[in-house]
Amino acid sequence: MKARILKILKDNMHKYISGEQISSSLGISRTSVWKHISALREEGYVIESSSKKGYKLIALSGSIVPEEIRMRLSSQFFGKNILYYDTVASTNTIAKKEAAEGCEEGTIVIAEGQTSGRGRLGRKWVSPPRSGIWMSIILRPDILPEQAPFMTMLASLATVHAIENVAGVHAGIKWPNDIVLESKKVCGILTEMSAEIGHVNYIVVGIGINVNINKSDFSEEIKGMATSLSSVTGRDIDRNELIVKLLENFEQAYMKMRDKDARKMMINEYKGYCVTLGRRVKVNLKEEVIEGTAVDVADDGQLVVRTDDGIKHRILSGEVSVRGLYGYV
Ligand code: ADP
Repeated sequence: MKARILKILKDNMHKYISGEQISSSLGISRTSVWKHISALREEGYVIESSSKKGYKLIALSGSIVPEEIRMRLSSQFFGKNILYYDTVASTNTIAKKEAAEGCEEGTIVIAEGQTSGRGRLGRKWVSPPRSGIWMSIILRPDILPEQAPFMTMLASLATVHAIENVAGVHAGIKWPNDIVLESKKVCGILTEMSAEIGHVNYIVVGIGINVNINKSDFSEEIKGMATSLSSVTGRDIDRNELIVKLLENFEQAYMKMRDKDARKMMINEYKGYCVTLGRRVKVNLKEEVIEGTAVDVADDGQLVVRTDDGIKHRILSGEVSVRGLYGYV
C-alpha cells in the first residue's frame, strides 16, 4: 500500500493531492493514508502537508533538499544562505565568484554533480551526480594569508567528526587535505583564497565526499584509491544530515579559532587523526624530492619530515605520497 501511495505522490510530484483523493482511489481510510505518509517521511521522502490541500511530495528519498538542511541546521551563519544547483562545472568556481561579488560569510554552494570538479594542482575531482556532497563554503576570516592552511585543518576535522556522527565510522586524515577510510580516499578538500599581502579577502573551502557510490561505479582511474561511505558501511547515508553536521562542526571550530588554547587543542586533535604521521613519506617539491618520516604537524599546518640524516624539513605544500596508503610503495 505504501508503494501505491508513493506512486500517486510521484505522479503528482511538486503538486498537492488531497488525502481524500488518495484514500478513495485506494479504498483505505484517511488515517491509514496518514500513517503511510509518516512512514515514507521516515524513509527520507520529503512530503509537505497542509490540512486544506493535502500532501505534496517535494523530494525523493536521498535527495539533497536545501529546505531540509536549513530546517535542521542550528548554526549561526554557516549554511544560512544556500545556493543549490543541479549540475555545475565546479562549486569552488561559483563560490569564488559569489565571494568576489560580496556574498555573506558562511554562504554555501552545493551541486548534485560537477563536470569539472578540481583537486589540488589542477587535478581532477570526479563528482558523479546525486551520490556525493560537492560543496563549497565561503569564509572571510580575519587571519593572515599564511594561516589559510589552518582552514583546511578545521574543515578536515569537521568532516571526520560528521562522518563519525552520521555514518558511525572512524576516518583518518591524510595530510593536508584528504580524508581516508580503510586506506582509501573518501573525501578531498580544496582550499582556495583571494588575498593581498597581509590580508585575506576571502577563502573558499571546497569539500567533496563520496557518499552513496558503489565501488564498481568508480571510474578506472580512481578505482584503486577511492572509497565511499556507503561501500564501507553497507548502507546509504543521509546526505542532508551529513551536510548539517559538517556545517555545525565547522562553524563551532571556526568561531573558537581565535582562542589560543582552543587552537592548540584542535591541532592536537588533527594530529590524532592524521594517518600520515609516523609513516615514511616521499615529498615531491618543485626542485627536489625528499624522503623521510613524517614526525609532526606544526602549529601553522606544515608537515615536519625528518630525513634519514636527522634533519627536519617543514613542508608547506607540494605533493606528499604516503607509503602504504592508496597502494603507494
Ligand atoms: P591529493 O591530495 O591526493 O594530492 P587532490 O586533493 O589533488 O589529491 O585530489 C585529486 C586526486 O584525487 C585526483 O588526481 C584523483 O587521483 C583523485 N580523485 C579524484 N576524484 C576522486 C574521488 N571522487 N574520490 C577519490 N579520489 C578521487
